[in-house]
Amino acid sequence: QFEASAPGAESFRVQSDKVAYTDSHIESTYVYRDSKVTKAANGKITVLPTEKVYSFRTERAVPRVGLMMVGWGGNNGSTLTASIIANRRNICWRTKEGVQTPNYYGSVTQASTLKLGVDEKGQDVFIPFSNILPMVQPNDLVLGGWDISKLNLAESMERAKVLEYDLQRQVKDEMEALQPLPSIYYPDYIAANQSDRADNVLKGNKQDNLEQIRKDIRDFKAKNSLDKVIVLWTANTERFSAIIPGVNDTANNLLKSIREGHDEVAPSTVFAVASVLEGTPFVNGSPQNTFVPGAVELAERQKVYIGGDDFKSGQTKFKSVMVDFLVSAGIKPIGITSYNHLGNNDGKNLSAPQQFRSKEISKSNVVDDMVASNPILYKKNEHPDHIVVIKYCPAVGDSKRALDEYVSEIFMGGRNTISTYNVCEDSLLASPLILDLAIITELMTRIQYKTDDMADYAPFHSVLSVLSYMLKAPMVPAGTPVVNALSKQRAAMENIFRACVGLPPQNDMMLEHRAF
Ligand code: NAD
Repeated sequence: QFEASAPGAESFRVQSDKVAYTDSHIESTYVYRDSKVTKAANGKITVLPTEKVYSFRTERAVPRVGLMMVGWGGNNGSTLTASIIANRRNICWRTKEGVQTPNYYGSVTQASTLKLGVDEKGQDVFIPFSNILPMVQPNDLVLGGWDISKLNLAESMERAKVLEYDLQRQVKDEMEALQPLPSIYYPDYIAANQSDRADNVLKGNKQDNLEQIRKDIRDFKAKNSLDKVIVLWTANTERFSAIIPGVNDTANNLLKSIREGHDEVAPSTVFAVASVLEGTPFVNGSPQNTFVPGAVELAERQKVYIGGDDFKSGQTKFKSVMVDFLVSAGIKPIGITSYNHLGNNDGKNLSAPQQFRSKEISKSNVVDDMVASNPILYKKNEHPDHIVVIKYCPAVGDSKRALDEYVSEIFMGGRNTISTYNVCEDSLLASPLILDLAIITELMTRIQYKTDDMADYAPFHSVLSVLSYMLKAPMVPAGTPVVNALSKQRAAMENIFRACVGLPPQNDMMLEHRAF
């Protein structure tokens, strides 16, 4: 069994000629093995195993990091903030079940483990996921952000009705001192039913708004002596922006449209552009198309990381496990029907048709890669029926209900119907994902790679697809495959980090246990 090491401290060293630990970096050489498949005119398939050598270089020093949330006063923002304070101060609270201690359950970096190897007795040795490489600790994140509602964080925590009263009571003083900065409000982008909370909004035109957000990021960084800031959108779901040639199709057109105050630039896009121009990574936790083509081009041009879209917290996370299981078991899902009802402010906003549409789109493509992976079950362009319904029901508050039915075709024309009913506080699922997104994005800013054909080390592609595990509609670099299956997403993340310390990808062959 592993002993938990001090936060941030290195818990192991890899001894290999493929790994070097310098004062500043962990350097590894890694042979990436894959297979190239070609199909001849006569239909004959040839497979050629391939090898490519990658050098990885990871900065060891964990910087001082700020996390600025857009929508800080919302259910997610206030819940995460109170929970970090509770963890930092080790605050315990009473519930009718007894005394509860703080934790980071639901965070893959903080509360899951990975197998490092086997010990001399052949037993698996696990370490906390966060120990694979030096990562920032959640308790060390400096929190800040914006909200169109001027309530302080204690008031927004109370409004959210997520955390137990005895915990709220104990963090209240510290939360009261936290005040969201005024934010960008273009009423047309979120539901009309949100207008009564918009009492903390920036004045001026879109260019003024852009410059103010840039200044807010710089000021936050300077005031808190931060090395780095991550900006993350956990504000209301916006409607989609129309993609219009000349307006938001290129980086220059988008910057021009902001200067000219064009209607079709969303608040979230102004935030993304502001962050990118400040060299600050930006992650979108909501479903709208914040990253219009011009925003992606700008991030690529500035070599800044962006990630999105939409936290994969409950129903979709489960779906991306269930459908992966069915399809890889040779069972054919033919109908997936998902009903949700929720009573928090997110549900209220989603009760408006255009905002619901953003969520519907984000939830609808999540089984595509699994379906496409099995041409025995599905003909070309064949898909299961997939229905998503979301209703606002104030009575259930933040405790979202998700009812799903999976109808599958099984052996010899039979039918298998699986029904699931998931009840869960939405914000307690989403908040740990915000942490993982921030922590892994920051880590990625410290990893560089180089291959034989490159003159020098370089960062990864600006579109951070390694964040997919936490995202419902993962953005990937143009023309590259989208992976939704949860276990593959996790394996990709884990194996890339393993490669950075010179360890082979995780395999479950366990050959040493299968021989006589
Ligand atoms: P919420 O409504 O409680 O919080 C959103 C906050 O954003 C509010 O305080 C609102 O005042 C603020 N806001 C709206 N527009 C803003 C703007 N332009 N600038 C700054 N602040 C703004 O919602 P939530 O439950 O915290 O969820 C936040 C987002 O995360 C939603 O878009 C939701 O769809 C998405 N999401 C949540 C989950 C989950 O909670 N499990 C899962 C996936 C996605």
